[in-house]
Amino acid sequence: MNENQIYVIYGDHIKEMTASLLEAVDLKGRIPSHDSLIGLKPNLVVAKPSSTGATTTPEIVEGVIEYLQKYGYHNLLILEGSWVGDDTGRAFKVCGYDLISKKYGVPLFDTKKDSVSVQSYGGISMEICNKALETDFLIDLPVLKGHCQTYVTGALKNMKGCISDREKRHFHTLGLHRPIAYLNKLLRPDFVVADGICGDLDFEEGGNPVRMNRIFAGSDPVLTDSYIASCMGYRPADIEYIRIAADIGVGSCDIDRADIIELNRDTTLASPASSRRVQSLAKYTEAKDACSACYANLIQALARMEDCGELRALKGHPVKIGQKYQNSSGSGPGVGRCASGFKPCCMGCPPKTEEILKMLRAYRLRK
Ligand code: SF4
Repeated sequence: MNENQIYVIYGDHIKEMTASLLEAVDLKGRIPSHDSLIGLKPNLVVAKPSSTGATTTPEIVEGVIEYLQKYGYHNLLILEGSWVGDDTGRAFKVCGYDLISKKYGVPLFDTKKDSVSVQSYGGISMEICNKALETDFLIDLPVLKGHCQTYVTGALKNMKGCISDREKRHFHTLGLHRPIAYLNKLLRPDFVVADGICGDLDFEEGGNPVRMNRIFAGSDPVLTDSYIASCMGYRPADIEYIRIAADIGVGSCDIDRADIIELNRDTTLASPASSRRVQSLAKYTEAKDACSACYANLIQALARMEDCGELRALKGHPVKIGQKYQNSSGSGPGVGRCASGFKPCCMGCPPKTEEILKMLRAYRLRK
């Protein structure tokens, strides 16, 4: 694969999906040697299971380890430092990483306990954990999710787990965006395997999880974050740290020119939304056997409309979505090829979040 490509796989057989994805991108071909120290950096920002939408699904990490061990890479390490105020050891346990470590013989490393090196870029000095700097190949395993300050969080921001707690506090005083982008200039992950199985709509600590049933991979962390932004209904340039990272040459945020390669279609059905916000957004939909990825893209689009105070116009005009609409027609908005009998309809299978947004916004203006 090249830097401009993102590979996406859908479904709910997570370990098998991860294996197929890594075979498709030929991850082994990117690793310098069999002796390389390979760091796996999940997002365990808090000690909460991945079902809350906060942390990296452990089966993805298992899938990566199994792939690497199958091809003879055994010098592996899982490294993370939870946010200030949470204990990484507790997060390893609660999120299932203790068990992974025992099962595969891969050590866990708490970056909070590491020594640091001070490195500088663009006039900002920062304390980066030495173990992260020592890795020969660093695999970033972020979660596709929202963030109350930066709107989205993904591969670039996940690298914050490789700095000291003191530095994490310092980043907040600097407004997060610039230091996050600069950190990735100093410690750029070599590869990204992003968890889009279940991520939170708004908060990095979880609470409003949306089942999205996808995993995606790329070698450019700016491009993978741009893809995350677009999945959540943002333009990459709207997210300041993505824009800065592109400006300083960490990668590209030109998602329109990216080559998005979808290895399959999502066939899993969306399960009833459980969290409060997702339930309240679901009131604007009429779903009948909607696929998870399709439904998640609609929920993300509705969330962006709610953020902008645009949802009211859709009251009484529920959005039709799902396979059971294949032979139906009517007026009012539809989403996905299955609802093509409804007017207007955002086609696609699944349609992209930003296209759903565009259609619903135009529909709202006509009301
Ligand atoms: S358009 Fe229909 S088949 Fe395609 S993802 Fe949506 S619900 Fe599933």
